[in-house]
Amino acid sequence: SKSKGRNRYEFFSYVIEEQAIEKRRIIEEIRIALKEDQFILYYQPIFDLDGINVTKAEALIRWLHPQQGLLGPNEFIPIAEQNGLIEQIGDWVRDRAIKDAAHWFRLTGKVTQVSVNCSPLQFDRAGLWVDNWILACNKIGLPRDTIIIEITENTLMDPDSPIQQQLHRLSDCGIDIAIDDFGVGYSSLAYLQRLDIDILKIDRSFIQHMETNENSIALIRAIITMARHLKVKVVAEGVETQGQHQLLQQLSCDYLQGFLFAKPMPSAQFTDLYVTPLAL
Ligand code: C2E
Ligand code: CA
Ligand code: CA
Ligand code: CA
Repeated sequence: SKSKGRNRYEFFSYVIEEQAIEKRRIIEEIRIALKEDQFILYYQPIFDLDGINVTKAEALIRWLHPQQGLLGPNEFIPIAEQNGLIEQIGDWVRDRAIKDAAHWFRLTGKVTQVSVNCSPLQFDRAGLWVDNWILACNKIGLPRDTIIIEITENTLMDPDSPIQQQLHRLSDCGIDIAIDDFGVGYSSLAYLQRLDIDILKIDRSFIQHMETNENSIALIRAIITMARHLKVKVVAEGVETQGQHQLLQQLSCDYLQGFLFAKPMPSAQFTDLYVTPLAL
C-alpha cells in the first residue's frame, strides 16, 4: 500500500505539472492574442423596463482563438488576473469600448452608455488608470458620461485601499460607477455612504429564483426601494423569462438585461439592431 500511495502522489504531481504547463501555454497565447488582435468586444443591450428601448450596453470580452474558436472570458480572465496580463487586456478593452461608443455617438448624436467590467487588479496604485480613461475619452471627444465602470463589491472591501481614491476621481470626472453582481459579495453597504455609486446591478442568482422563492423577491424589492432613496438606478441581470420581466415591472426596476431580450453580440450587430442613425 506504500507503493500505491506513492503512485497516487506521483499521479497528482503529474496532474499539477500538466496544469502548470497548460497555464503557461495560455499565458503565452494571451500575449500573442494581444499582439495579433484576437480579442473581440461583444455588447449586450441593457433595456428600459419596457424591454424595447435601449440606451446602454455592457461590453463583454471574447477571444477568437485561432485553434479553439470563440472563447468566453471565464476561460482566460482568471489566468490573466494572476500575472498582470489583465492590465494589458483592460487597456485594450478600454480603447475598443471608447471607439465603439464614439462611433455610436457620432451616428446618433445621442449617448449610448457603454458599461465596462474592471477587475480590482486593474487599478494601479499611482492612479494612472483613471488618467488613462480620461485621456482616452478626451482624445476621441467622447462625453465622459458615456462610460460606466462596473466593479464588484469585493473591490470595495477595504475602505482604506487606494482604489477608493481612484473611484472618487472617476466619479468627479463624470464617469458612472456600477456595482456588479450586487448582493453576493463580501462587502457591507457602508461604501454606498462613502462613494457616489450610480447603478446597482442585481445579481442573476436573485432574478433566477424570484418566481419561486419569496426571499429572493423580498430582497429584490428591498434593493430597489433602498436604491430609489439613494437615487441610484437598478439593473436586473440575467432576465430569462416573461414571468421575471412582469415581476420586475411590478417592482419598478429601472433597467433589464438578459437572454429574454438579447444575448451579447458583436458591435456591428449591436449597431444594426439598436443604434438608430440620425435621419440625414
Ligand atoms: P458579468 O460581468 O456578471 O457579466 C454577465 C455575464 O452573464 C456575461 O457572461 C453574460 O453573457 C451573461 N448573461 C447575460 N444575460 C444572461 C442571462 O439571461 N442568462 C445567463 N445564464 N447568462 C447571462 P460572459 O460574457 O461569459 O462574462 C462572464 C464574466 O467575465 C463577466 O461576468 C465578467 O465578470 C467577466 N468579464 C467579461 N468581460 C470582461 C472584461 O472586459 N474585463 C474583465 N475584467 N472581466 C470581464
Ligand atoms: Ca458585469
Ligand atoms: Ca456619478
Ligand atoms: Ca454581473
